[in-house]
Amino acid sequence: MYAKSSIDDSYHLLAADEQQTLCGLDVAPIIIDRPAKTSALHLTSQKPTDRALCPKCAECTLANDWSQLPHRDNLRKSKRV
Ligand SMILES: [Zn+2]
Repeated sequence: MYAKSSIDDSYHLLAADEQQTLCGLDVAPIIIDRPAKTSALHLTSQKPTDRALCPKCAECTLANDWSQLPHRDNLRKSKRV
């Protein structure tokens, strides 16, 4: 899932809870898969091809890529118990 809005010419990646972007912006819990004119940051299931990835989100991905995966697994295990 990705996040975008029509006033922003880049798209964002989502944090694990899908309520915020990796760069810390709030995302509306709606999925719009066609071109939409809304200033609200919303979800889209397809990677926007006409936009570049937000530089802050890209930084977060590089910083957290491998180190977050074991952490997420631990979270899932603790919820199941
Ligand atoms: Zn971002």
